[in-house]
Amino acid sequence: MPNSPTSLTLHSGTDWKRQLADVVRDGDTLLCALGLTPEQVGFSAAACRGFRLKVPWDFVRRMRHGDPDDPLLRQVLATGDELLDAPGFGDDPTGEAEGAVARAGILHKYRGRVLLVVAGGCAVNCRYCFRRHFPYDSNRVGRKDWAQALDYVAAAPDIHEVILSGGDPLVADDPALEDLCATIADIHHVRRIRVHTRLPIVLPARVTDRLLAALSPAGVQTVFVVHANHAREIDDGVGQAFQRILDAGMTLLNQSVLLAGVNDDIDTLAELSETLFAHGALPYYLHVLDRVTGAAHFDLPESRALALHAGLRKALPGYLVPRLVREVAGEASKTPLA
Ligand SMILES: *Cc1c(COP(=O)(O)O)cnc(C)c1O
Ligand code: SF4
Repeated sequence: MPNSPTSLTLHSGTDWKRQLADVVRDGDTLLCALGLTPEQVGFSAAACRGFRLKVPWDFVRRMRHGDPDDPLLRQVLATGDELLDAPGFGDDPTGEAEGAVARAGILHKYRGRVLLVVAGGCAVNCRYCFRRHFPYDSNRVGRKDWAQALDYVAAAPDIHEVILSGGDPLVADDPALEDLCATIADIHHVRRIRVHTRLPIVLPARVTDRLLAALSPAGVQTVFVVHANHAREIDDGVGQAFQRILDAGMTLLNQSVLLAGVNDDIDTLAELSETLFAHGALPYYLHVLDRVTGAAHFDLPESRALALHAGLRKALPGYLVPRLVREVAGEASKTPLA
């Protein structure tokens, strides 16, 4: 229904800001909306104090009413499991805060690609997030700091790709992103802008025409890498956002995290790939969990991850099988497991 009033509202440039300001921030509101009790789902207010609960209504509306095991709910719900002691889990599992940060806001770990921390916040707080303890305050790039971060890129002729990351880079507003991307495109050796974002999934109204224009200045190609973990995250609104990204001529990829209780079976993973492809996105990475404090209840043994991936290879054409990878501190690329 491309011309219906609803989709016009979705396209408006102010609607996403209203939705972002209006996210659910407390367990009672969330559980009440879903007809669930805190006891049924193991909700913990104490777990929210370390990393607050945060989820857009648009995403909540895709959760099943009355289902304590809903895979979308499980990704955002703060539970008592987060407070349990888990050996081998730490605050900085990928070694980002330690040394990889060349200067405020830049992560230059891999050759040819540099990751720019555009914004510290996200529209959603995913409980398994490996950056849930990341020191954003000492690594923040505000608009005025971007110039300094980009001097670093300009001085390194082997950097061909700038990855806008965060947090979620698309919580930054359009004028800021217009400036940033225009400046990046002016750096002669940069060929690609890549955007790592979950906003097209959790708050698809963010994908406006103005945003897409901002992200595709002349002279560079743009790659969108979105983040969905379950087919049910992809509803009509997300499908329309994907279509706008594709209509803008961009490449559209998805990365997922393998999560116990959310997507740890072959049928669920196969359906995710099928649904992504039906909407024009290709599966890129399937990450095993980074061992971050508070996320141990999402972890799976590596043997299980390998078995799931082997099953997926049998169930799907090769181009629908995401690469199973782990982020290992100090390595020169993602580490393939399969
Ligand atoms: C994952 C990651 C990248 C991108 O890696 P690709 O394999 O190109 O997707 C770049 N920089 C950092 C710091 C990363 O963690
Ligand atoms: S959107 Fe990404 S960066 Fe933000 S909380 Fe979720 S996993 Fe972490």
